[in-house]
Amino acid sequence: MRIVFMGAPGSGKGTQAQRLEKQFSIPQISTGDILRKHLADGTPLGLRAKEIMASGGYVDDETMLAIIRERLSQADAARGFILDGFPRTVAQAEGLTKLLAELGTPLDAVVLFDVDHEQLVKRVSGRRTCEFCKKVFNVNFAPASGECIPGRSEHSLVQRPDDREDTFKERLRKYEEDTRKPVSHYYASTGLMRTVDAEGAIDEVTQRLLTTLGAGGGKVAAPKKRNAQRRAPRKAKAVKAVRRVVRKLQKAVKKSRTAAKTARKAVRKRVSKLKARAKRRTPARKK
Ligand code: AMP
Repeated sequence: MRIVFMGAPGSGKGTQAQRLEKQFSIPQISTGDILRKHLADGTPLGLRAKEIMASGGYVDDETMLAIIRERLSQADAARGFILDGFPRTVAQAEGLTKLLAELGTPLDAVVLFDVDHEQLVKRVSGRRTCEFCKKVFNVNFAPASGECIPGRSEHSLVQRPDDREDTFKERLRKYEEDTRKPVSHYYASTGLMRTVDAEGAIDEVTQRLLTTLGAGGGKVAAPKKRNAQRRAPRKAKAVKAVRRVVRKLQKAVKKSRTAAKTARKAVRKRVSKLKARAKRRTPARKK
């Protein structure tokens, strides 16, 4: 399954992507995480992206497409992926379409996470990431729980600098103007676009998401079923083709029946003509 998650910062797409990653055994590919890794490693790209990210701006399309091209070429992405935070511009969406066409692996769905902006502020201001295991929690909705990395009994939560209110508002504005409007418009004509109500408890959103993706009530659809769904249009096409052939044969049979009837009639006419002629030529026997 190849999916794009689109949503404002804090709409919960990262959390849901982590859940689907486990259920479908496909990687969550977060371009924000990739950039943060570059930043932490102090790579030239990380140094370049640092200020842009801190101000809530976007890293240039060429760089982002190169990152995605490289990431999608890795073995774990061959079975599918969830793109989280990419594409963010129409140029990125076009580049992705081209890249996936080259790979022969088109997208299955683009999911737009729909959430009220006030809710977003609440979510984002409470968002914390464990600096060791990288799990995302929320002090308002989903307090830290579960295991950290081996050897650590507790998570160590930190707030991302770009989750601070002023930066967040700029990111929200930019998302609306440069991402939601143009990119959803780009995908609108593809038939891939789905919207999920991303408000409410995390479990509820997961249920809605799975339903939206056609995976049923919280359970992962069996691969067989998903394949069958993918095969459905091909099956319908085959049925149509068979029906066309049957119609043609029926027409041909009808035609040949009419032809046979006409021929029989002609033969009968000819025979009776011949009989009549023979009768005329044969002199009547004298009694
Ligand atoms: P995220 O974690 O997805 O909210 O991304 C954090 C920051 O990384 C964004 O505010 C951007 O500065 C940068 N970034 C992530 N993904 C992209 C992208 N697809 N295009 C441009 N910039 C990005």
